[in-house]
Amino acid sequence: MNMKSSEEEILILNSVREFLKRDVAPYAHALEAKDEYPQEISDKMAELGLFGITISQKYGGLGVSASTFAKIMEEIATVWMSVGGIIGSHLMMARFVERFGSDEMKSKYLAKFASGELRGGIALTEPDVGTDLQGMRMRAERDGDEYVINGTKMWITNSLKGNILAVLVKTDPKVQPAHKGMSLLLVPREAGYVPSKLDKLGYRGIDTCGIEFCDVRVPVENLIGGDEGRGLQQTLSGLELGRINVAARGTGIARACLEESLAYAQTRKTFGKPICEHQAIQIKLADMATRVEASRLLNEQAAQAIDDGRRCDLEAGMAKLFATEAAVENSMEAMRIHGAYGYSKEYNIERYYRDAPLLAIGEGTNELQRIIIAKQLVEKYPV
Ligand SMILES: Cc1cc2nc3c(=O)[nH]c(=O)nc-3n(C[C@H](O)[C@H](O)[C@H](O)COP(=O)(O)OP(=O)(O)OC[C@H]3O[C@@H](n4cnc5c(N)ncnc54)[C@H](O)[C@@H]3O)c2cc1C
Repeated sequence: MNMKSSEEEILILNSVREFLKRDVAPYAHALEAKDEYPQEISDKMAELGLFGITISQKYGGLGVSASTFAKIMEEIATVWMSVGGIIGSHLMMARFVERFGSDEMKSKYLAKFASGELRGGIALTEPDVGTDLQGMRMRAERDGDEYVINGTKMWITNSLKGNILAVLVKTDPKVQPAHKGMSLLLVPREAGYVPSKLDKLGYRGIDTCGIEFCDVRVPVENLIGGDEGRGLQQTLSGLELGRINVAARGTGIARACLEESLAYAQTRKTFGKPICEHQAIQIKLADMATRVEASRLLNEQAAQAIDDGRRCDLEAGMAKLFATEAAVENSMEAMRIHGAYGYSKEYNIERYYRDAPLLAIGEGTNELQRIIIAKQLVEKYPV
């Protein structure tokens, strides 16, 4: 990183920290408890340019590196992970358009994505299919200059409050292998899909929905990349950055759990001394801190690979796996350290404990991450 970009990064991170302290931290607890969408926070994120952080400056974005993006997402997740979700899948959608879209598509959409005028996400999962995406059923049939979309998506974040989605569809349900019949379409809300909000354990406030598509029509120009049959490849290559995003959130939650536990352990006393002087608590704090540092280092390595223009499936997969398990483990340890107060709705710990497991499920489950990592190791080191 050169001096100029390092200075820019410091400025951006400082303004993100200031925004989190002033506009998010005081409101997160109440909004989360009511499962209320943080509209004002979302609007302030647009003012700050956060809807365009990874979009090129050419289109009005900030064009930050993957490394800076990871640091921003970590900061946000230390305060309230749901706020990161507002821009997380939105930026993945923008990345699909910027990497694979035609010049017309980029000019039409990217500036609006960057300003937050258009906000959205990615719709891959269906009621019967999450991991095994090739088994998906949503159909898009060509009718003259339009595609007609029918089917159901499930668990789609940003689909109620947002106004556009990148939707994975089957343009040819018969072809084998099945991925050759899969395509990505940009579908604006006004085309007529109907989202219904789901009730969730954590990741509350932000809108995650089931969505019905009934004869929803979009022009053929909305096919990302212009050729049918490339949707799954486009999706999977975009998910590299998605995994860095999720790993950064894991690091953020793991860090929040550590910081709050470290402070609490120095003030809470038992048997005449602060609990941080009991060896059982010291071991927990040491393990928690080590997990935070290791998560960040793994993710920095993956992000640096993207910034250098290298593929980083293996590194991003390891970072995602480790950092999200770190979040799950640290939230449990934070609860133990806080004793009954960790179990109380008054403290943040129970929120971290409810938010963390999503990270082990989303953006490729950790079971699948392990399988992918092992396969890549065997490929890389054949005997
Ligand atoms: C809050 C929330 C927000 C989400 N937001 C979005 C979104 O914005 N867009 C979107 O498209 N999706 C979203 N998702 C969906 C998420 O990506 C999927 O839940 C995830 O991909 C897993 O799919 P599944 O739930 O269908 O599990 P399944 O694929 O049914 O898997 C069930 C279990 O089987 C395991 N498993 C599956 N296959 C294998 C295998 N080959 N070997 C070993 N184990 C296996 C899995 O690891 C898992 O433990 C969201 C989910 C949640 C909970």
